[in-house]
Amino acid sequence: MKTAALDDLIAHLSRLPSIGERTATRLAFYLLRAKPQFREGLSRAIERLQDIVLCSQCRTVTEQNPCAICSSHVRQQKHLCIVEKASDIYSVERLGSYRGKYFVLHGLLNPMEGIGAEDLGLQRLMERFQNDRPEEIILALNPTVEGDVTSSYLLRLLSPLQIPISRLAAGLPIGSELEFADQITLGKAFEGRTRLR
Ligand SMILES: [Zn+2]
Repeated sequence: MKTAALDDLIAHLSRLPSIGERTATRLAFYLLRAKPQFREGLSRAIERLQDIVLCSQCRTVTEQNPCAICSSHVRQQKHLCIVEKASDIYSVERLGSYRGKYFVLHGLLNPMEGIGAEDLGLQRLMERFQNDRPEEIILALNPTVEGDVTSSYLLRLLSPLQIPISRLAAGLPIGSELEFADQITLGKAFEGRTRLR
């Protein structure tokens, strides 16, 4: 009893991560029964994603460029935290204790998937150090193979700058994702970060 409109919606929803066709079908029927205001709000929110650009300084997602964190005078310049994904900034910000700045790689080195150093915006990162040299660079990458490979690469790349570099303490479950770590674990990993150089 499905229609072309429902089929279309189900096909789109089932392409979302962790959503199989059954869940997509359930969500599509939920939306069909939902109040028109809810559907309009949802489609407006999706539409507004078009206004999002990458911050020219830190590469996070933003509607104003530079982003609120980069243009803030309250945030400290002395710490620069390097993360894999823009959503990792949300995880660190939720801790409420980090007051420094960020840089987003939008991926990790992965030769198998064809992701190389040029995909991670590292040229932008190096340019950034010409105007603004932090007192510490914190590598907050996921404790996965790709995270470790990327951390080692960054350590070699950044070493000539003579800026202290640290990484999050062990304690995050191996192979886990920063965004799924609970606040206490992530907070401890941040506080107990280890100096690499
Ligand atoms: Zn920014």
